[in-house]
Amino acid sequence: MIRADKINHNYYYPEQFKESGEKFLNSYTLEKEVSCPSEKIKGLKDKKSRVCRFCHKKYPFVSFSKDAHIFSELLGNKYLVSDFECDDCNSKFGKYENDLANFLGIIRTIQSVKAKKVPKFKSADKKLEAESTQELDEGTIVKVRRFDGLNKTFHFNKEKQQTEITYEKGPYTPLNVYKAILKMALSIIDEKHLADYKFAFEYLRTNKHDKNYSGFGIVTSYSMPLTFQFQQPTGMLFKKINSNAKLFTHLFYFAALNFIYEIVIPFNRQDAMFYQIPGGLDTLWCPPLFGHHKEERILSVYSNSLNLNSVERLYNQKETFVLPTKEGEYDKSRFLNKETGEVYEEEFDGSKIIGIDLLRIDDPNE
Ligand SMILES: [Zn+2]
Repeated sequence: MIRADKINHNYYYPEQFKESGEKFLNSYTLEKEVSCPSEKIKGLKDKKSRVCRFCHKKYPFVSFSKDAHIFSELLGNKYLVSDFECDDCNSKFGKYENDLANFLGIIRTIQSVKAKKVPKFKSADKKLEAESTQELDEGTIVKVRRFDGLNKTFHFNKEKQQTEITYEKGPYTPLNVYKAILKMALSIIDEKHLADYKFAFEYLRTNKHDKNYSGFGIVTSYSMPLTFQFQQPTGMLFKKINSNAKLFTHLFYFAALNFIYEIVIPFNRQDAMFYQIPGGLDTLWCPPLFGHHKEERILSVYSNSLNLNSVERLYNQKETFVLPTKEGEYDKSRFLNKETGEVYEEEFDGSKIIGIDLLRIDDPNE
């Protein structure tokens, strides 16, 4: 682990990102870090004096009666709300967030995200359900059940010692998923930069420009094992140090559950001059950042580049998630004889298994 001294002494990043991490931290500085408070925030503007930063409309031409969450509520943000998002924009962005939820799939349930209520998950083809059920003293039980006659859902991979669970995601439009992330980014931009991002706000709100300005929907993602979880959603804005550098002015970094998403914020007026030069702007990505105590719990970090530019709605997307399994787990199965109360053993037969219970043990350090 390397300490990210240049931005924040409490953050570290894994050795494997040494080179790219140094490059990034030499070029960008942390402008803002926003985490979710554990209670209601105070000091919001009175509803009658609010202006929407997204559509620029004021009360009473638009209403501000709903709680407008800066980071998506479905990722566990309860109290971080804004006073600059009108109800119209809020419901528009709600659609993007529904797509984000479908895109994320089962993970919110597996991680028992503390949203309004822990989401119950049903796969699009209704063959898999997951529910976070009992809160025990030591943790939470997540029940995963399959409802398909011929088992195509659970695969017990003896060779790799892992259980693979395949399910179908709900429909989503990739560009909407991207816009759900962009919305969070534009929500934490400082007032002084708003004029520079005038077009970005318009691009976010409408679909008029989706075709003419395509190609920005690229997300760099880092994902950690299911056993890892960030305590709360956190967003960071990084600003390039040298304003003449051929780089996007801002990068948005967002961490929640067991993943990190990064996007460059598009359409900054100051960046426009670089669009013309051959090769355009360069992109550098921030390394995944962790607090120190998590070090031993981060077994692996997978990096991925997600292309979310498509405006085509995707159906029947399959995803497999993998659970590590102890050696010997697939040798014998234990059954309970309900009449005698006796426990007996039989040869392991995966096709008989219709449910898997996961125990999530809460971290006492958090
Ligand atoms: Zn609005």
